[in-house]
Amino acid sequence: MINNLFDDRKNIEKIYKNKDVVSKEDKIIIAGPCAIESYEQLLKTAEFVKEKGANVLRGGAYKPRTSPDSFQGLKEEGLRILKAVKEKTGLPVITELMDVRDLKKIYDVADIIQIGSRNMQNFTLLSEVGKQDKPIMLKRGIASTITEWIGAAEYIAKEGNYNIIMCERGIRTYNDYTRNTLDLAAVPIIKKETGLSVVVDPSHGTGVRYLIKPMSLAALACGADGIMVEVHPEPENALSDGMQSLHFDEFDDLINSIANYK
Ligand code: PEP
Ligand code: MN
Repeated sequence: MINNLFDDRKNIEKIYKNKDVVSKEDKIIIAGPCAIESYEQLLKTAEFVKEKGANVLRGGAYKPRTSPDSFQGLKEEGLRILKAVKEKTGLPVITELMDVRDLKKIYDVADIIQIGSRNMQNFTLLSEVGKQDKPIMLKRGIASTITEWIGAAEYIAKEGNYNIIMCERGIRTYNDYTRNTLDLAAVPIIKKETGLSVVVDPSHGTGVRYLIKPMSLAALACGADGIMVEVHPEPENALSDGMQSLHFDEFDDLINSIANYK
């Protein structure tokens, strides 16, 4: 329906060439805390999720928070912790780049660079990550249409980087039982329109812990290449997004359900 950069035969080949980075495994299972809070917190989570089958560790060092008084992330100290845990566990890591001035610091640690929902239309940032030789995970904007989301991906691809993972993380609607409304129809649509990989984040997509398992299974059923979920050793004491973070036993149960489902 939409004419986009990804329609072009030559460009489709670029996508498939780049796809190897994320498609070595059957499914991309990204897990970890919303925010990096300490070395112990991240290491404990990383070791657990790795043992259960996660293949990428998540953890925010720079956090986009609604209130300036909320925890903003450990920033450079967070990146040092992420690097140390990556080296100790061997897990590839993803972390959010919020500001183009932090690009080099994030590039040095991240295996996948995350562009968050709030920055989906930060065109300067998109063009800069488009010049990098690492995969970029582009989260759908808080209230973005699919056309706007594809347009944002084109900003990245236009600079030469076709290694883009599209992340559906819910959009704002009038629903009052969930933080956002997870739009799973976007998964087959994005795959059809762009051929890019698609990962679903039911943690931000629902904001509700008990919905993460059913929505993860639904995401995989409709063709998602993977999921991204928040996991914390003590969600009740998390410095951000505790309500939507899985306890370790819940992550274990999720992974078992995915295995049984396959
Ligand atoms: C995140 O994944 O850390 C995050 C902040 O999510 P989003 O940008 O989707 O709100
Ligand atoms: Mn979060």
